[in-house]
This record gives sequence, C-alpha cells and structure tokens, in this order.
Amino acid sequence: MSGTDPDCLFCKIVAGQIPAEIVSETEHTVAFRDINGQAPTHVLVVPRLHAPDIASLAVVAPDVAASLLLETRRIALEAGHEAYRLVFNTGADAGQSVFHAHGHVLAGRDLSWPPG
Ligand code: 5GP
Ligand code: ZN
Repeated sequence: MSGTDPDCLFCKIVAGQIPAEIVSETEHTVAFRDINGQAPTHVLVVPRLHAPDIASLAVVAPDVAASLLLETRRIALEAGHEAYRLVFNTGADAGQSVFHAHGHVLAGRDLSWPPG
C-alpha cells in the first residue's frame, strides 16, 4: 500500500521533497520535529501511506496505524520520557491543519489538563 497525495505537505516530507528534521524512519512511518514545537520534545509521527486522519488510516491499514502507535511510544522512551502526551487532532474544528494522519508526541514539560 503506497497511496500518496501530490498536494499533501506531509507526503512531500515523507518523499524528501520538503526538508524536515527527521527523528526516525520505519517501514511504515516517518517521524520529524514539529516546525513550531510546543514542548522540549514535539515530534510528529506520520504514516508513509496518505490517509486524512488516524481513524481513516485504521480503517484502510490497521497494521500501519498500530505500528505508528508503537513508534510514538518508542520515540518518547528514546527521548527519555516515560510520560508523554499523544495527540491526534481530528477535524479542522479540533485544530487539525494538515490532513495527513499524524500523532503529536509531546513531552519534557508539565502538560496541563484539559488541553486548550
Ligand atoms: P495539526 O494542527 O494538523 O494537528 O498539526 C500539524 C502540525 O504540523 C503543526 O503542529 C505544525 O506546526 C506542523 N507543521 C506545519 N507545517 C510544517 C512543516 O513544513 N514542517 C514541519 N516539520 N512541521 C510542520
Ligand atoms: Zn499525505
């Protein structure tokens, strides 16, 4: 499965057409630092496969969704954080601005609840 969207920012980062500070790459995922980091660790983990949000990804490729989830934990642990926040903004009204599924891994500072 290798669907991409030529107009999608994160597909372009996955393809290396737009530079990013890459943190890790796996068979199914690419992780890179958020350009506008909101915590000492703020990494975006995206599937190589284009899907507009995490639930859509889970429908078409549940194995990819599961491996993305495990990669978020691995990245947090590797950065030294057993506690971290994993955010999937889903839908524009919830703050999603890039419609290629991505998990935000946030850690390294106090994270208040509820989020804004
Ligand atoms: P969303 O708002 O969709 O949940 O998250 C999108 C995230 O992508 C934002 O936190 C934003 O800072 C980040 N972002 C937007 N454009 C770029 C870019 O070109 N490079 C990187 N590394 N991050 C980006
Ligand atoms: Zn995409």
